[in-house]
Amino acid sequence: MSARILEGKTFAAAFREEAGKRARALQEKHGVIPGLAVIIVGENPASKVYVRNKHNSCEALGIYSEVIELPETATKEKLLAEIDRLNASDKIHGILVQLPLPKQIASCEVEILQRIDPQKDVDGFHPVNVGRLVTGQKALIPCTPHGCLKMLQLAGIPIDGANAVIIGRSNIVGKPMAHLLLAENATVTICHSHTKNLKEVTKKADILVAAVGRPKFVTADMVKEGATVIDVGINRIAPKKLVGDVDFENVKEVAGAITPVPGGVGLLTVAMLMQNVVTACEMQLEK
Ligand code: NAD
Repeated sequence: MSARILEGKTFAAAFREEAGKRARALQEKHGVIPGLAVIIVGENPASKVYVRNKHNSCEALGIYSEVIELPETATKEKLLAEIDRLNASDKIHGILVQLPLPKQIASCEVEILQRIDPQKDVDGFHPVNVGRLVTGQKALIPCTPHGCLKMLQLAGIPIDGANAVIIGRSNIVGKPMAHLLLAENATVTICHSHTKNLKEVTKKADILVAAVGRPKFVTADMVKEGATVIDVGINRIAPKKLVGDVDFENVKEVAGAITPVPGGVGLLTVAMLMQNVVTACEMQLEK
């Protein structure tokens, strides 16, 4: 029997609605409009599209949005000064630096991202937020893995006691995903490029998350019958053709539930960013 398809748009709509509701509540209760500032350096066309999407999403939900466009040649000092200004701004509750950065400052990425006030770090990349997540404290959590967790919960997929296997150990997806599932009492295994006998591990997964960045890496013989398969991968194999890390057509015949690409996890990220801006604002008001 073919798997249940977990459509990203359904979940993203629910997450956006929740963000909008909480944003309105903040305005009614405290007279505060949550605000997001996105800094983009240079002319990367894909980055420009992502930034525009974030801005439009904010506008649709009544979240204040500022886009700061710096030239391709901007220095590290200029960017840090901009972050300092936004850290001090009362109108801004969330700050995001769109990646990748141009060559001359790419090597300073860690220093630049850590200049963001952890309370305004809506990407959840700052070590303070990473530490909070790992130690089970309230944190701003990276949007993509957080969206995956919330989708599993909303879809009613059992997590407590489940065997969860994550392929990929990046700071952006794999590691936070593992900590989120662990916090929900899954038994978590993280696999990576040095993992031996990968198939033996993935075959035991009730929940399998693929965050590898390789087209159709997860094949049907790697998946347990009835498992939930979350495909985080986005791989462009032709100018207009995106595929995930999972061989969707064949894996859907084995899995119990599966996310498609496109139309799956990719749609959750901006919706979760909206939630993070509202969460950051709520946390700053609690102080
Ligand atoms: P990354 O390159 O930082 O990490 C890839 C991981 O895959 C590494 O930890 C590596 O050890 C592992 N890996 C590589 N080859 C492997 C192998 N043969 N066997 C087992 N593990 C292997 O990538 P990332 O930033 O985590 O992104 C992963 C994918 O998710 C990419 O396709 C990316 O485009 C996509 N992504 C999507 C979203 C979204 O949906 N919004 C957000 C972030 C990333």
